[in-house]
Amino acid sequence: MICEVIVDIAHSEVDKIFDYVCDAPVQAGARVAVPFGRSAATGFVVRVKETSDYPAEKLKKVYRVEEGTPAVNAECLALAQAIARRFRVPLALCLRLFIPPEMRTGKVSETYRTFVRFVQDVPTKNAPQQAACLQYLKEHGEADAARLREQFGAAVNALEKKGAVAFEKRRVLRDPYKGMEGKERGHALTLAQRRAVEAIGNTQKTVTLLHGVTGSGKTEVYLTLIADALAAGKTAIFLVPEISLTPQMLSQLRARFGSAAAILHSALSAGERFDEWQRLREGSARIAIGARSAVFAPVENVGVIVLDEEHDGSYASESAPRYNTFDIALLRAKHNGCKLVLGSATPSVETYKRALDGEFALVRMPERINARPLPDVQIVDMRREVRRGNPSPFSAALRERLARCLDEGQQAILFLNRRGYSQTVLCRDCGYVAKCEQCDVSLTYHSEENCLKCHYCGARYKMLEACPSCGGRHIYYSGTGTQRVVGELKKLYPSARILRMDNDTTGGKEGHYRILKQFSQREADILVGTQMVAKGHDFPLVTLVGILDADMSLHFPDYRSNERTFQLVTQVAGRSGRGSEKGDVILQTYDPDNPILRFAAAYDYEGFYRHEVNMRAATMFPPFALIVRVMVSAAEERAALGALREVYEKLQAVYMEASGDFLFFNRMHAPIKRIQGRHRYQVLMRLTTRRLLARIYEIVSGVKYKDVLVWVEENPSNLS
Ligand code: ADP
Ligand code: ZN
Repeated sequence: MICEVIVDIAHSEVDKIFDYVCDAPVQAGARVAVPFGRSAATGFVVRVKETSDYPAEKLKKVYRVEEGTPAVNAECLALAQAIARRFRVPLALCLRLFIPPEMRTGKVSETYRTFVRFVQDVPTKNAPQQAACLQYLKEHGEADAARLREQFGAAVNALEKKGAVAFEKRRVLRDPYKGMEGKERGHALTLAQRRAVEAIGNTQKTVTLLHGVTGSGKTEVYLTLIADALAAGKTAIFLVPEISLTPQMLSQLRARFGSAAAILHSALSAGERFDEWQRLREGSARIAIGARSAVFAPVENVGVIVLDEEHDGSYASESAPRYNTFDIALLRAKHNGCKLVLGSATPSVETYKRALDGEFALVRMPERINARPLPDVQIVDMRREVRRGNPSPFSAALRERLARCLDEGQQAILFLNRRGYSQTVLCRDCGYVAKCEQCDVSLTYHSEENCLKCHYCGARYKMLEACPSCGGRHIYYSGTGTQRVVGELKKLYPSARILRMDNDTTGGKEGHYRILKQFSQREADILVGTQMVAKGHDFPLVTLVGILDADMSLHFPDYRSNERTFQLVTQVAGRSGRGSEKGDVILQTYDPDNPILRFAAAYDYEGFYRHEVNMRAATMFPPFALIVRVMVSAAEERAALGALREVYEKLQAVYMEASGDFLFFNRMHAPIKRIQGRHRYQVLMRLTTRRLLARIYEIVSGVKYKDVLVWVEENPSNLS
C-alpha cells in the first residue's frame, strides 16, 4: 500500500506531500514514523492509495504506524485541509490543532496499573498472610496490586507463583475532576425552555441564535439538546469561553452525563488532557466540553454543537492559524448535518445582524426563570464624587448600599473593569476622554514616547497637561487595582470577609474553583474581581453588584469597545438578585449620560443594537467593513523593512486595481514599535468586501524572508 504523508514539521518548505510504502494496515489520519532526510520524523497520512507516480525503488518505507485508531478522523482531516487552504498555512500546523500537544512530544502515554485477580483455592497452611489475602480476593474478586502488597506484603507474589491468583495489567484513565460531581439534577423544562428546544429542532437553518437574558435558563436548554443528541446515538460539542471560570457548569455536566462528558482544558495536567482526548477519540466519552480548542474535538457523528456566550472575545485565536471558533463550528455542523446553537444575553452586533437578516434562526428568552426580576441599575456620577472631595473608589451611594448588604447578611460582588484602563486618558473632573480627530476612537497613551496614538490610523498627539474641555488637571491614565480596592474595603468594613479574584490570585487548575467555591459556601461577604467575576456564576445570596468604573472599557482602542462595555455591564449586573431576594446594581462612571451605559442599565439590548449598528454603518466599521492588518515582525529592522516593502508593493497592486473596495490603505509602524526585541510594522486596510481576502492571504504567504514573521489579522480586537 502507498500512503501520502505530510511530515509534521511546520515549516513551509516541507509543506509537501510525500509518498511512502506501508506494509502494515493504515488509514488516512493515522500518524506514522517515517524516514525523512537523514533522520526520522512523524507524519500524518492524508491518503492511502494503490499506486504511486514515483518508481517503486525510490519510495521509502514507513517505519511504523503509531496508533490503531487514526489520531485524526476523516472529518477532521478534511477540516484541517480546509483551514490550511483558507489561511494559507502549512497543513501540518493545522493538523496539530486536532491532537493533544502531548501526543506529539511523546512525553505522555497511557497509564497502566496492575490488578490481582482470584483464580483458585490452594493450600495456605502455616501462611496466615497468604490465607488472609486469598480470602480477601475471594470476597472482592480483584484488587489493585500495589494496595494489596501494602496490606499483605510478599504473600501476594507467593500466591501468584502457586497459581492461586493472576496479575493483570490494565489501562486506567486519569480523571481530572474527581470529586467535583455536583448534586444538581436536571430541571423539568419551563414553557419558555421547551419552546426554545422545539424551535431549535424545527428550524431549517443550521445556526440558531438563542438570545436569552441572564438567568433565563439557557444552560438547561443546551443540556436538553445534548441529551437528545446522545439519545439519538450521536455526540456533542459544548464550547464555553473560559472553562476555568465555569466550575458550576462542569459539575452540572458531570452530574447529568457522568463519564460520557470529557473536558478538554489547557490547565489539566498533560496526562489528564491526553486521557480525556483518548476517551473522546475511542468513543467512550461522547460530549466534548472546553474552550475554543474543543471545537477540534475528535468526536464523530456530531449531533449538536453549542457555543455559549458567543460574543466572547476568546473565541478568536491569536496565533496561527488565526481562526474564529464559530467558522470552524459551522463547518463541522454542516458536515454532520447538525444544529449549531449560539447562546448569549448580549450577542455580538455581527451575530445579531446575521440573525435579523435571516441567515440564522433567532429564538428569544426574554424572562428570567420563575419571572425573577432583573436587578435595578443605579448610575452614579463619579465626577461629582471627585468634586465633593471623595477620592476613594467607592461612591457614597455604593458605601451605603454595601453597608446594608452586610448588615442583612447578604453577599456583594465588586467589579473592576481592567480592560484598557491603564492606557486611556481621562479627565476626572469632567469625564473628557482624548480621541482621534479622524477616527473617533480613543487614543492610547504610550509611555515610552510620552505621546498619544490612534491605533486605527497611526496619528500621534501630544500628551495632555490639562483637560482641553474643562481645564482640569486631574488627568488620569492609570487605574485602581483590585488590591487597593480590597485595602480600602478593609478600612471601611473591618469585620467583612473579603475575597479577591484576579490574575494574581487564581493560579493553577483549581485557583478559580477554590475562590468561587469559598464564595458560594458563604465563607466571604464580598468578592472583588476583574472580568473573571462577570462570567456566568450563579450565587443566590448576592444582592448587590458594584461596578466601580463602568466606562473604562468604552475607551479601549477597539471598534467593538461599545459592544464590549454593554456586554460586560450586562453580564456583571446579571450576577445580582438570582436568588429569592431582588438585587441591586450600582454603576459608577465618569460619563453618566453615555448612551451605551444607559441602554445597559435599562437592559435594552435592542436599543443598544440599533444605536451601535447605525454607528458602525455611518463610520464604516465591521460588520459593514472588514479590517485587515498585515503584520511584519523581525529582530532585524532592515529585514522587517525589506519584507514590509515587498508585501506592501504587492498589496498596493491590488489596491490600485480595486481601489473602490478600499476605505483605507497604508503602511506604518505598528502602534507598539517593538515587542520582545522584535520590530513591528503593519499594512492596515479597511475593505468594503471580503472579495480580496483570499488574494491577501496568498500574497502574504508568498513573502518569505529569513527570520521575519508576516501574518494576516482579520478584524483584530487588539491593534497594538
Ligand atoms: P442563563 O445561563 O440563561 O444565565 P441559567 O441557565 O444559569 O441561566 O439558569 C438560571 C437559574 O435558573 C439557575 O439557578 C438554574 O438552576 C435555574 N433553572 C434553570 N432552568 C430551570 C427550570 N426549568 N426550573 C427551575 N429552575 C431552573
Ligand atoms: Zn485615527
